[in-house]
Amino acid sequence: MDAADRASATLRRRLRVLAAAMFAVTVLAASAVALGTLATGWDRSPSPATATTGASSEGFSVWERNRDGTPVRWDACSPIEFVVSTTSLPDGAEQDVEDAIETLRAATGLDLVVRGSTDERPSGTRLPYQPEHHGERWAPVLIAWAVPGADGVPLGDTDRGVAIPLAVGPAGERVYVSGQVVLNAERHDLRPGRGDRADSWGATVLHELIHVLGLGHVDDPDELMYVHPGEGPVELGTGDRAGLRAVGADGGCLDVPPPRPVQVAELPER
Ligand SMILES: [Zn+2]
Repeated sequence: MDAADRASATLRRRLRVLAAAMFAVTVLAASAVALGTLATGWDRSPSPATATTGASSEGFSVWERNRDGTPVRWDACSPIEFVVSTTSLPDGAEQDVEDAIETLRAATGLDLVVRGSTDERPSGTRLPYQPEHHGERWAPVLIAWAVPGADGVPLGDTDRGVAIPLAVGPAGERVYVSGQVVLNAERHDLRPGRGDRADSWGATVLHELIHVLGLGHVDDPDELMYVHPGEGPVELGTGDRAGLRAVGADGGCLDVPPPRPVQVAELPER
């Protein structure tokens, strides 16, 4: 077993722990008002053995499916709101976010909206309902640059970023209502825009936001959701577009639980 295999085995064990934790939360939530579950997408090079998991014949994968087989997704009949943390932003970050949102708005038909900036910082235990910060609504998706290891965010030293979409609702009928995208503020080798996937903040932000909309990785170097960070295209591929349609406006309205306090599973250690 080489180092990559050991790392992969460790990750699998941690994911099993997370799955067990989520099950426990499911049981607890039977008598609670709502359930929060987390999916994390951190972008590091996997071992070849894990690179093909989750891909569908349509060229995309999703984090999770509901009981009826449809992807867990956002409600297509409400705006999906984003805020950008103002701390540690690299040059061009706000433009990269705006460009990624515009690309995804066109590809999904969803009403994606950047509401502005915030002083809120990312956290591994960020709650999706924070009326004191964001009013009586599900908290907008927080986009932030942060130092690895800060506040329990599962961001490794060399990772470009991590996406943490958050779904609520009973098992088999979940819907995303909030989330975070945390980019690595110490990756000073990355540049604004979408010039080259190898050193592009723009493509990285776009990739992570696609995770927040519900898509996972694929083992296809022609897709932006290619499993190897730093490789692949800087724009959407055919499979990426099919996946974004699958979680997009064509799916129609969903019943969204009203905003209220939610218990969330803790994120696994990195
Ligand atoms: Zn990724």
